Amino acid sequence: MFGFYKKSPAARKNYSDCSGCSLCLLVCPVWRKSRDVSLTPHGHAKALQNGISIAEVAASVKNCTLCMACEPVCPENIDIIGMILGLRRQQVLWERPPGRDRACRGQEAAPTDTSSTMLLPDQALHAHPNILARVAALLEISISEDDGADISLALESGATIAERRLQRFLDPLRKPKKIIVADGLLLRYLKQWLPDANTIGLGEALSGHVAVRRGLRATDLYMIEPRAYHTDYQRTVKHYDRLRADHGCAFNLDLQRIVIPATARNLPQRLGLAASNDEGQAHWALHGRNISRIVVESLEDLAAFENVSDVPVMHLAEVVQG
Ligand code: SF4
Ligand code: SF4
Repeated sequence: MFGFYKKSPAARKNYSDCSGCSLCLLVCPVWRKSRDVSLTPHGHAKALQNGISIAEVAASVKNCTLCMACEPVCPENIDIIGMILGLRRQQVLWERPPGRDRACRGQEAAPTDTSSTMLLPDQALHAHPNILARVAALLEISISEDDGADISLALESGATIAERRLQRFLDPLRKPKKIIVADGLLLRYLKQWLPDANTIGLGEALSGHVAVRRGLRATDLYMIEPRAYHTDYQRTVKHYDRLRADHGCAFNLDLQRIVIPATARNLPQRLGLAASNDEGQAHWALHGRNISRIVVESLEDLAAFENVSDVPVMHLAEVVQG
């Protein structure tokens, strides 16, 4: 199984190459919940191969949570996320609803210290200023004035990103030594837009910090954020294997070392247009485990577990003592 993962991004294929093997179903949270193959990459690919119109798969592509778990297991190396986002763009499924799109913070501002490490927070971190301040102090990093939240939402919803806006976002990011990105979808695209930049996800950055590692316990359930993890799977799997070897904590990984998401929010839920339904996923992640604490990389997971668990739930930045 692990042989699947030695794949080149340059050789990515499209839905016409889908063999119908169904491996993507095994890791897909939408499949786990719905048991409806039409809502999976397999279903999208077969529908398009059989001449179904793009409009007819509209309802199903919007249900994808973009957890990216299906890509590492696909033996055909299909660019599944690119396909799904492309279909959303063609369908113009979700124009950004007025008032739902948080205004971008200080779009004109550029980082002043271009030699530093820069943090791009996500909306959840902005909503928890204490944790954001803790993260910044711990990693000794500057917080970017422009977090690209509007760009991430446009990517996810299929809306157009104006070239000028994209360049205004990217220009200040060309010089920092390292860019730490809390939003896993934005991380994926930054790796494409700025291939020479040193970009990593926030969870990996924090879990690589000595004080955070010291704070982890063998009885923790450590919840990896799936988007950043699957974006750079071949490298991150080694990082978390080392973390498990050093600290013995349990992870939300399956036997193929694919992340099992605790939250399964589709686009309408992320836009606040439908109620989230994370309880089932969170219960499922806890089933059969004997743990004393839940440590999460994503603040979305923090909220999901606090609703269903009796053990303490904390963000990774909060495990540091003192
Ligand atoms: S990205 Fe996640 S939710 Fe979407 S099809 Fe792949 S596994 Fe399913
Ligand atoms: S894993 Fe890939 S090849 Fe197999 S059904 Fe899914 S998309 Fe098609």
